[in-house]
Amino acid sequence: MGTPSLSSGVHVGGLNTGWLWMSSCTLSFPVLPVSFLFLLLVASGTWAAGYETCPTVKPGMLNVHLLPHTHDDVGWLKTVDQYYYGRRKEIQHGSVRDILNSAISSLLEYRTRRFIYVEMAFFSRWWKEQTKATQDSVRDLVRQGRLEFVNGGWVMNDEAATHYGAIVDQMTLGLRFLQDTFGSDGRPRVAWHIDPFGHSREQASLFAQMGFDGFFLGRIDYQDKIFREEKLKMEEVWRASASLKPPTADLFTGVLPNNYNPPKNLCWDMLCADPPLVDDPISPDFNADMLVADFLKLASSQAQCYRTNHIVMTMGSDFHYENANRWFKNMDKLIRLVNKQQAKGSRVNVLYSTPTCYLWELNKANLTWSVKEDDFFPYADGPHMFWTGYFSSRPALKRYERLSYNFLQVCNQLEALAGPAATVEPYGSGDSAPLKEAVAVLQHHDAVTGTSRQNVADDYARQLAAGWRPCQVLVSNALARLSNYKQNFSFCRELNISICPVSQQSGHFQVTVYNPLGRKVSQMVRLPVTEGVFIVKDPEGQTVPSNVVLIPSSYSKMYERELLFSASVPALGFSIYSVTKMSGRKSQTHSLRARPRKPTSQVLSIENEYIRATFDSGTGLLKTIENMEQNLSLPVSQGFFWYNASTGNEESNQASGAYIFRPNQLEPLPVSRWAQIHVVKTALVQEVHQNFSAWCYQVVRLYPGQRHLELEWTVGPIPVQDGWGKEIISRFHTPMKTEGQFYTDSNGREILKRRRDYRPTWRLNQTERAAGNYYPVNTRIYMTDGHMQLTVLTDRSQGGSSFQDGSLELMVHRRLLADDERGVEEVLIEAGGGEKVRGHHLVLLSSVRDAAARHRLLAEKEVLAPQLVLAQGGSTPYYSQAALKPQFSGLLQDLPPQVHLLTLARWAPKMVLLRLEHQFAVGEDSGQNLSSPVTLNLQNLFRAFTITHLQETTLAANQPLSKASRLKWRTETGPVSNPAPSKLDPTSVTLQPMEIRTFLASVQWPAPS
Ligand SMILES: [Zn+2]
Repeated sequence: MGTPSLSSGVHVGGLNTGWLWMSSCTLSFPVLPVSFLFLLLVASGTWAAGYETCPTVKPGMLNVHLLPHTHDDVGWLKTVDQYYYGRRKEIQHGSVRDILNSAISSLLEYRTRRFIYVEMAFFSRWWKEQTKATQDSVRDLVRQGRLEFVNGGWVMNDEAATHYGAIVDQMTLGLRFLQDTFGSDGRPRVAWHIDPFGHSREQASLFAQMGFDGFFLGRIDYQDKIFREEKLKMEEVWRASASLKPPTADLFTGVLPNNYNPPKNLCWDMLCADPPLVDDPISPDFNADMLVADFLKLASSQAQCYRTNHIVMTMGSDFHYENANRWFKNMDKLIRLVNKQQAKGSRVNVLYSTPTCYLWELNKANLTWSVKEDDFFPYADGPHMFWTGYFSSRPALKRYERLSYNFLQVCNQLEALAGPAATVEPYGSGDSAPLKEAVAVLQHHDAVTGTSRQNVADDYARQLAAGWRPCQVLVSNALARLSNYKQNFSFCRELNISICPVSQQSGHFQVTVYNPLGRKVSQMVRLPVTEGVFIVKDPEGQTVPSNVVLIPSSYSKMYERELLFSASVPALGFSIYSVTKMSGRKSQTHSLRARPRKPTSQVLSIENEYIRATFDSGTGLLKTIENMEQNLSLPVSQGFFWYNASTGNEESNQASGAYIFRPNQLEPLPVSRWAQIHVVKTALVQEVHQNFSAWCYQVVRLYPGQRHLELEWTVGPIPVQDGWGKEIISRFHTPMKTEGQFYTDSNGREILKRRRDYRPTWRLNQTERAAGNYYPVNTRIYMTDGHMQLTVLTDRSQGGSSFQDGSLELMVHRRLLADDERGVEEVLIEAGGGEKVRGHHLVLLSSVRDAAARHRLLAEKEVLAPQLVLAQGGSTPYYSQAALKPQFSGLLQDLPPQVHLLTLARWAPKMVLLRLEHQFAVGEDSGQNLSSPVTLNLQNLFRAFTITHLQETTLAANQPLSKASRLKWRTETGPVSNPAPSKLDPTSVTLQPMEIRTFLASVQWPAPS
């Protein structure tokens, strides 16, 4: 702060040119002297912990913050292990272990050097390999701010194909490692998503709630970037929630100047071709003067697009710093030579810095910032180059990730409900950590996105499978502990294709249905069986209605038998049903009402007490959906279509690929104009089976009591022998007047309005009518005419859009014969796994008034579906004298419909992590008033344990809420109030719409009984 400041509004640039670097950009607001502002900020109590280690800057000059960094993908062209150990260098030269070794040595060499690190999946592994002496040195570096963690998640997660619950989990895992290892010295202040392919609003909201002070991005749409550079909006405050009261979800967000790469000619990694800086004037290779002059020019021009007298340059890229010395030696020289120019009047000061220290200078500038309220989707890096294909790439992996998230929550909950016994007995040691880590790895921006190479995608699936196993042991231990009975548990992981050895081979078996939601559910259980008569008994021993239905297999010409019964399961608990095959009795299988046939003229419909779906007798396609409860009827035709994937044309050589969606023409072609149909009608289910082609099949289904229509599709292998890549969509067409608008969710939480060929913050020059209107759909897409709403829920992330009023489409699968030239260098064929995919869409037709109540509660049940665990034969008591408990609830009472139990997981030997969430947005539900705040008594909530102490934390649980404080930013929308958190009263915890509250609870589990 010692250098005198210039007078208000004046910035100085390099080369004695004064206003040169401001020439084409105007400052919106006068800049006050920085030293004066700092005094003001300190006086007003702005919190600065973590910033005190930042380097000194020169307030009167243009300060160029060099950010030495490496971008280490947690799997992409190579597997996670290959990147860590540096194997398979012929594929890509990446060795994270060597990067960390080398960067740390270079930091220890000179005190001024700084380095940042991001991915805890790698760092935690490296840390465990170090000696105590190295760990101590690294702790010193962290304390001094020279090694700084940014983001600090397990991975740098994708933002389009990820569910918010999984984002919160993966951030919690990484930040916890940092907190446990380095305490608050290691707590990141800045979020750093330099490579994800577009940015969701929910991500910014979550980061804000985790306590981050700022967020830096690499990739935004090329048109948006030009606009922002011109309007000096590269840095803004992102108001990332329409429900949470500002500044709760406000996050200062900066777009980096060059994605995340070094400036031209200044790439000094061993992977770069740029020559080193030669400062020996007698050397024939002397280039220092030229590089310094170029640098000063570059700094001046870059500064024209940013508002303060601070700019950043990202000095690093993918897997850089394996030979850190090369980078640092050259930057040492650059800094010395550039700053030497100050003696000759240069007003440019260059320094080693970090994103956090740069952010701190921006905050101290105390400007008034513009506010952003939309998101950064879709992302295009040039005309015709929309990164909207990856919303749907590798649909089988996307489903496996979602299913694994579901099972992880079941595993976490049962570990918390059963207590310490769950990890040790009676089936051996169970562990939730491997699945936590595997699901976290899947959130990486080349994993769930489907943008890795095939062998890496296979390895991601392997990691998930390896994570499931110890969780299955844990779940078995917990179920035995909570039910008092040991059973021969079996997890049928292929129920989606009607395979389950226990139900298919045993004459007597138990089905434990576990419900991870905070309120009771009914679930139709479907199990593959062989021919016979079955008696199903509920937890009280009463026989419940059951059917065996004979259904055509979508996999072969065979027919399959499935046993159906409806299970009722209490909140956060289980019900055990027993199934016995009666010997010597002939089967009363409910077979098909109709043989395979072309549709005839008879009216075809399925219905229950709430819904009727009618099918066109000529085509076999869905024709009308009626909501009989609300007296709504909507003509809906639904079918499958395919886009012919571009391999490049005269307009652009851009092909459709793993990242990019680019069809040859806007209008997709039908897979078939009609479907061969079968009808199945029993007391427990009504189904229309539609066979569109040899590789496209669908079952439209209704169970009693269900207010939605279920469409279970099976697509693949997509034929590509004709040489055409194909992208398959399911399209719903209605006469609804939707005025170019539709709605998609953001990471499964808040909803954003979309408008065709439109961006809220700049004038769009649309170059791809299809791809440029695609948006990520994590859980739902809908449209409305103001009177009724048609909502389609998905079981995984998919791309979706609406190209005509009244129409919605979701991309379910894609198979492509060209690479899209974003580095993967592989076609998306998925040979040997992932070619054939089954999934479902849940369709809700309702009045606008109660649409939110329907889709919020249905989406919650979809993401946290009940888990089935089967057991062959009988059972034995866990404890002698103990009576079987065939039904259990971990709660004393059901949660109200507004409240979602987002997390219940064991945190420490006697602690659990608890997250409660209000799952409705402000004003969303007018019918039942579900958008109103709700208050809970946490002392009187759990049956499974007693809470003895409760502490509220930030969203990722790495800071007590009472100690958390974020930097404050002035915005053009005016001041916001920052009320201090009120004292926590566990008997009265109120949740506002869309609020998530996170607690660490000390608990006591009861002794076994
Ligand atoms: Zn990356």
